Amino acid sequence: MARLLLLLAIIVVLAFVVRKVLRGTSTKRAQPDASPSPEPDAKLVRCVSCGAYVPRAEALPVPNGFRCGGAGCKSGG
Ligand SMILES: [Zn+2]
Repeated sequence: MARLLLLLAIIVVLAFVVRKVLRGTSTKRAQPDASPSPEPDAKLVRCVSCGAYVPRAEALPVPNGFRCGGAGCKSGG
Protein backbone atom coordinates (compact mmCIF):
# COMPACT_ATOMS: atom_id res chain seq x y z
CA MET A 1 0.00 0.00 0.00
CA ALA A 2 2.80 2.39 0.90
CA ARG A 3 4.52 1.57 -2.38
CA LEU A 4 1.37 2.49 -4.28
CA LEU A 5 1.12 5.84 -2.49
CA LEU A 6 4.77 6.51 -3.24
CA LEU A 7 4.22 5.73 -6.92
CA LEU A 8 1.19 8.03 -6.97
CA ALA A 9 3.20 10.83 -5.35
CA ILE A 10 5.96 10.43 -7.92
CA ILE A 11 3.46 10.60 -10.77
CA VAL A 12 1.87 13.75 -9.35
CA VAL A 13 5.26 15.41 -8.89
CA LEU A 14 6.34 14.43 -12.41
CA ALA A 15 3.13 15.81 -13.90
CA PHE A 16 3.64 19.05 -12.00
CA VAL A 17 7.25 19.38 -13.18
CA VAL A 18 6.39 18.55 -16.80
CA ARG A 19 3.58 21.09 -16.81
CA LYS A 20 5.87 23.73 -15.35
CA VAL A 21 8.59 23.03 -17.92
CA LEU A 22 6.13 23.13 -20.81
CA ARG A 23 4.72 26.42 -19.58
CA GLY A 24 8.22 27.84 -19.14
CA THR A 25 9.21 27.10 -22.74
CA SER A 26 6.04 28.64 -24.15
CA THR A 27 6.74 32.13 -22.81
CA LYS A 28 8.70 33.11 -25.90
CA ARG A 29 5.62 34.48 -27.62
CA ALA A 30 4.73 36.60 -24.61
CA GLN A 31 5.37 39.96 -26.13
CA PRO A 32 3.64 43.20 -25.25
CA ASP A 33 0.81 43.62 -27.72
CA ALA A 34 1.06 47.27 -28.69
CA SER A 35 -2.12 48.05 -30.54
CA PRO A 36 -1.80 50.82 -33.11
CA SER A 37 -3.45 53.90 -31.71
CA PRO A 38 -5.50 56.01 -34.11
CA GLU A 39 -4.78 59.64 -34.71
CA PRO A 40 -5.93 61.90 -31.88
CA ASP A 41 -8.01 63.97 -34.26
CA ALA A 42 -9.84 60.89 -35.55
CA LYS A 43 -11.13 60.07 -32.09
CA LEU A 44 -14.83 60.57 -31.58
CA VAL A 45 -15.99 62.67 -28.69
CA ARG A 46 -19.47 62.99 -27.29
CA CYS A 47 -21.27 66.29 -27.44
CA VAL A 48 -22.24 67.35 -23.94
CA SER A 49 -25.21 69.29 -25.28
CA CYS A 50 -27.01 66.93 -27.67
CA GLY A 51 -25.09 63.68 -27.15
CA ALA A 52 -23.94 63.28 -30.76
CA TYR A 53 -20.57 61.73 -31.50
CA VAL A 54 -18.31 63.92 -33.63
CA PRO A 55 -14.60 63.81 -34.57
CA ARG A 56 -12.50 65.62 -32.04
CA ALA A 57 -11.07 67.86 -34.78
CA GLU A 58 -14.56 69.18 -35.54
CA ALA A 59 -15.75 69.37 -31.95
CA LEU A 60 -15.75 72.61 -30.04
CA PRO A 61 -14.04 72.30 -26.67
CA VAL A 62 -16.15 73.54 -23.79
CA PRO A 63 -15.31 73.57 -20.06
CA ASN A 64 -17.29 70.38 -19.40
CA GLY A 65 -16.33 68.43 -22.53
CA PHE A 66 -16.98 68.96 -26.21
CA ARG A 67 -19.80 70.37 -28.29
CA CYS A 68 -20.60 69.42 -31.89
CA GLY A 69 -21.97 72.83 -32.89
CA GLY A 70 -24.51 71.25 -35.23
CA ALA A 71 -27.88 72.64 -36.22
CA GLY A 72 -29.71 70.49 -33.69
CA CYS A 73 -27.27 71.34 -30.95
CA LYS A 74 -28.40 73.80 -28.36
CA SER A 75 -26.01 76.71 -28.06
CA GLY A 76 -27.16 77.66 -24.61
CA GLY A 77 -26.35 75.56 -21.60
ZN1 LIG B 1 -24.28 68.81 -30.05
